[in-house]
Amino acid sequence: MTIKYDDNGLVPAIIQDATTKNVLMLGYMNEEAYQKTLDTKKVTFFSRSKQRLWTKGEESGNFLNLLDIKNDCDNDSLLIQVNPVGPTCHTGTDTCWKEENNSSYGFFSTLEDVIAERVANKDTTKSYVASLFSKGINKIAQKVGEEAVETVIEAMDNNDELFLYESADLLFHYLMLLQAKGFTLKDIEKELKGRHK
Ligand code: AMP
Ligand code: ZN
Ligand code: ZN
Ligand code: ZN
Repeated sequence: MTIKYDDNGLVPAIIQDATTKNVLMLGYMNEEAYQKTLDTKKVTFFSRSKQRLWTKGEESGNFLNLLDIKNDCDNDSLLIQVNPVGPTCHTGTDTCWKEENNSSYGFFSTLEDVIAERVANKDTTKSYVASLFSKGINKIAQKVGEEAVETVIEAMDNNDELFLYESADLLFHYLMLLQAKGFTLKDIEKELKGRHK
């Protein structure tokens, strides 16, 4: 692969989670780091602060297992897809950009953020989410049960429009319940992936 290193012998490497497509971090590679990455299948950078080769995870164990490397249109940057072991950022978060980059589930991730924002603002007069949260977790759980029953009823009824409507109700209330319990869709994904084989 053709790679154009800069005057310092470095090329920027964008690290992307191959599954979630989240951008995890940015690092720089020299030719030796690039070769070591290919040889070991663990992403290795040239650390500008340490001035030496740095295999991400060498201390923490949070390695970036290599899946794929692509160069860009003019060969002066790399896009590296990985399977990360544990959190990539040294602050303990999955990505170095946190929430701003957390859209693995598209609009559903946006909804998770909206729910969090409504709960934080506690405006129970204006927000249905805030008012439901103010009634406590049992009330939220009960609502999920009701919406589930309504979904089941419409599924048996042959009315696709009502089935979709109640399914949307169910999913929205379920997102609230997840959040009330301190979980996100990501936790469900992890659980399901753990069962997959
Ligand atoms: P690690 O490579 O994960 O064992 O971390 C070793 C050291 O590298 C940490 O103590 C940080 O100083 C630094 N470090 C780890 N992860 C990152 C990151 N995503 N971005 C910048 N520096 C990092
Ligand atoms: Zn370029
Ligand atoms: Zn970071
Ligand atoms: Zn409903």
